[in-house]
Amino acid sequence: MGPDLRGMSIAVLGGDARELVVIEKLSSLGALIKVMGLPVKDLPGVTVIRNPEEELSGIQALILPVPGIDDNGCLYCPLAAGPLNLNMEWLDRIQPNIPVFVGLAKPKLAQIAAQKNLRLIETMKLDEVAILNSIPTAEGAVQMAMEMLPVTIHGCKALVLGFGRTGATLSRLLGAMGARTMVAARRPGYLARITELNLIPVPFYKLDEYLYDIEIIFNTVPVLVLTEEILRKVSPEAVIIDLASAPGGTDFRAAEVLGIKAVLAPGLPGKVAPRTAGMILAQVISRLLLEEMGR
Ligand code: NAP
Repeated sequence: MGPDLRGMSIAVLGGDARELVVIEKLSSLGALIKVMGLPVKDLPGVTVIRNPEEELSGIQALILPVPGIDDNGCLYCPLAAGPLNLNMEWLDRIQPNIPVFVGLAKPKLAQIAAQKNLRLIETMKLDEVAILNSIPTAEGAVQMAMEMLPVTIHGCKALVLGFGRTGATLSRLLGAMGARTMVAARRPGYLARITELNLIPVPFYKLDEYLYDIEIIFNTVPVLVLTEEILRKVSPEAVIIDLASAPGGTDFRAAEVLGIKAVLAPGLPGKVAPRTAGMILAQVISRLLLEEMGR
């Protein structure tokens, strides 16, 4: 038997199917898990929090939903019976310096964390999570493209903007499916790698030369790259799937005016493959907790 989390007390507040997988994994490692805002199964060591002020004191780690909280302080908890606020008095009960896991901290949570001295760990920023999550993201993006396009992926002219963790996986998938795949990147090293993969490299500064007959554009760059000026060179028949985190990298208003179908597609791993996304999260959280415990 490998290292375990026996004796470790962990709270999970809100979340979705991904956190249910995390709870299963932590329970299998022997942790004591207190849960609120999620319908949990009867598992060893798992209890539902009834009196948060009392039960949260003494926890050694806190797991928040991947999207954290909204601007009003509401935890993301689509499976709960009703809304759940991240109560400031609960946070006063937890020891400073315990790890607090979240996918990505939006400004409101970042501000609370600074105020309350919370040690936030943003799992989606870790390479091991981002690279593995790029697999369901790429599959989900292709699924959307298949639903939106009147032609097959095979043989279609596709453009991927960005060759980071998501862009690289998606480009390879499109190439393997037989799309004529162009990939826009800035770094000469990335352009060389794109060539090596038998895909078509597009230096970002020359983007406007490649746009006129593209059928599908996937954006992974988290800044405004599909500006009105660029969109004017895109065919109105083209479809844009913007994967970058909100607000995306597309001028959606300009796209609408120009008659180009453009959609922002956030949170694909949790939507298209919640169990895989949960397993990725469970793997990294349990590894980090074992490190915390020195096991
Ligand atoms: P990443 O590894 O950091 O890749 C980002 C890419 O954007 C890099 O190739 C980077 O190029 C490029 N880039 C950044 N600024 C640029 C600019 N001004 N001009 C041209 N290129 C620029 O990030 P990632 O993990 O692939 O994630 C990409 C985005 O997708 C993020 O917003 C992330 O939150 C989001 N995401 C969404 C989903 C979903 O389900 N929709 C899933 C996962 C991630 P350089 O290396 O040259 O800087």
